Amino acid sequence: MQTFLKKLELQGFKSFAQKSDFEFPYRVVGIVGPNGSGKSNVIDALRWVLGEREAKQLRGDTLGNLIFAGTPKRAAVGFAKVTLYFDNRERLFPIDAPEVMLSRRIDRSGNSQFFLQDAEIRLKDLQPILARAKLGARGLTMIGQGQSDLFVRATPDERRLMIEEILGLREFRLKKNQAERQLASSEVNMEKVAAMLEEIAPHLKFLRKQKSRFEKRSEIEKDLRTFENTYFSHRFQALHRDISVTEKPFAEAEDARNIKEKEVSEYERELKAVSGGETHDAEHAKKLRSILSEFFTKRAEIEKLLARAEAKLEFLSATPTHAERSSIEMKAILEALEQEIRVMDEWHELDKIKNSLKTMAVRISDFFKTEPKADTKPFEAEIEKLRSELRFVEAEIAKSRIEEERVAEEQQSSNKEFRTKVEALEIKKNELRKLDQLVQQLKFDRERLKIKMEELERDWAILGRSMDELHTIGEVRDIVEFSDLERKMLRLRGELAAIGEIDETLVKEATETETRFEFLTKELEDLRNAVSDLRSLIKELDHKIHMNFKSAFSAISDEFNNYFQLMFGGGKAKMKLKMPEVQIQDIIPITAEDSVNTETGEVKEEKKEKLSELSAGVEIEISIPRKKIGSLDMLSGGEKSLVSLAALFALISVSPPPFLVLDEIDAPLDEDNARRFSDLVKEFSKKTQFIIVTHNRTTMESADILYGVTMGDDGVSKTLSLKLDTAKS
Ligand code: ATP
Repeated sequence: MQTFLKKLELQGFKSFAQKSDFEFPYRVVGIVGPNGSGKSNVIDALRWVLGEREAKQLRGDTLGNLIFAGTPKRAAVGFAKVTLYFDNRERLFPIDAPEVMLSRRIDRSGNSQFFLQDAEIRLKDLQPILARAKLGARGLTMIGQGQSDLFVRATPDERRLMIEEILGLREFRLKKNQAERQLASSEVNMEKVAAMLEEIAPHLKFLRKQKSRFEKRSEIEKDLRTFENTYFSHRFQALHRDISVTEKPFAEAEDARNIKEKEVSEYERELKAVSGGETHDAEHAKKLRSILSEFFTKRAEIEKLLARAEAKLEFLSATPTHAERSSIEMKAILEALEQEIRVMDEWHELDKIKNSLKTMAVRISDFFKTEPKADTKPFEAEIEKLRSELRFVEAEIAKSRIEEERVAEEQQSSNKEFRTKVEALEIKKNELRKLDQLVQQLKFDRERLKIKMEELERDWAILGRSMDELHTIGEVRDIVEFSDLERKMLRLRGELAAIGEIDETLVKEATETETRFEFLTKELEDLRNAVSDLRSLIKELDHKIHMNFKSAFSAISDEFNNYFQLMFGGGKAKMKLKMPEVQIQDIIPITAEDSVNTETGEVKEEKKEKLSELSAGVEIEISIPRKKIGSLDMLSGGEKSLVSLAALFALISVSPPPFLVLDEIDAPLDEDNARRFSDLVKEFSKKTQFIIVTHNRTTMESADILYGVTMGDDGVSKTLSLKLDTAKS
């Protein structure tokens, strides 16, 4: 017959120092052996490999005690390992394999590992798989030594969990617990994220404002740049054009001016030449005038000497008497005397008068002197000589006069040429002046344009732009209205000034904060969704647990009654739910409506009831024939075990687990009850595999196979299988 649990392997676990195998090819496996031989260690091994974490549940102080500690005759080992082999043809494990192998290993450093099909798996991930296969380390599927009354001793809540486990609802419980944990943590996170968002929001508002100002500023700057480009480029090109246009006329004017300058120099040179000739003529004329003047002087001297000589000759040739002497002469002397007397009237100095009188006396005396007749010949010769000299001089004078006239004529013609040259020079000079003015004007125009260009370049540089940039803007073909552009640029600059400078780090911070804000908003949204999903999941799981539990519970209770009556030969037993008082705050809101209702306290009765049922514990009510039982505590040890067994069989009759592990559960039973137990095991072995540790012969008889566990002198457990004849069927 097919069995679910196929094999158990132990190595280094507790007293099983060496590798020991338990094959479970039969539905009822009995494990027998003397006290202390290690039978319960086998159950501990099963419990441990199925995920038990508490050392106490494994009958040890520490998990390290699970490893073979050594005996006087056998050394300790370094690790313990337990492996279970399952038949998975019915896919109780969600693994696509006919056989599943589950192991657990622990070493002395306390390192504990689970392996599913040799791949390591975390307990957290393993638990739902085991729960789905209705396998648990505790509860009614694995009843340890001295726990035969487990169900009776358990609290109502523990009983509920035992039932849920056998019903396979533990999987949902685990999921629900996990979902609740996740929900709690998501809610905490949600609060944190919401708080963070709330904290960021005002600062972000400020940063957004800065960013928008920055963007506005950038937009204006962009527009301004476009206008500046057009304005400067257009002006640059226009000026450039204007400057180039001035080049040719300027060069031409300068050339014309230079030519004219040369002409003027030429004329000046010519004029100088003419004025040089004129000077020569003037000097010549001056020289002639000097010669003439000398001749005139000479002539006058000669004439004077000649006159004197002729007078002498005349005097000598006819010396007159006093009487003859001219009365004229006498009259002249007299007139001279009267003149002297008139003059003397004004004189006051005696000496002067004396001298004048003396002179007069001499003149009168001379008048009366009579000179002798003299020789006239020398005088005549003298006169001839003088006359000859005079003729010569006069001839020379005449010659000089002719020359003078000629020079004057020459001078006159030279003057005329000079004037003509001067006039021509003046005309040229005028022309030169005009050309100079033109050159100056053109130069001035060009300089003015160059200054404008410099100003433009300076203004461009002030904008922080390079000349290369200006050159690369290229030709602006649009018709540009400068005043319009200037107005626009002015307006934009004004707007920029109004916006003011913006710290770029704030813009960077705005982007970062915005990203963080978006991230947190998304996270909050995700958390809200997660919370909502988790609430739905919890609701769904609650529903599943509730529905499955509810549908099975009354059947379990009925079966409990049946098996109770079987065990006690009558009486009555039932299980009932102990409804806890549901507190409003215990209700997890599933929907927004729930949440509102919770806050206002308006929880619907139906929901409250359902929630009550969900967490309701299980109570037992019994009445034993011929006995009045006030409480379960009044029951004997055996009776408690019987009630527990009735519950166990009721449960497995409604929802049989794949296997049950029972450690000396039959110990407190009397022979009749042991027989009944043995019969029930046989009956239920069709549905469930039993692994039973027992000292009871009746129970042993119900087993298909018995494993003997012994312990030798070395303190090490050993196994031997005792196949029974009956088991072969
Ligand atoms: P009973 O029939 O009396 O219940 P049992 O067969 O169930 O006995 P166990 O309780 O399984 O006996 O085994 C107990 C034995 O296992 C003890 O002798 C104990 O010394 C031994 N043992 C327990 N842990 C270790 C360990 N870590 N190393 C070595 N031996 C151990």
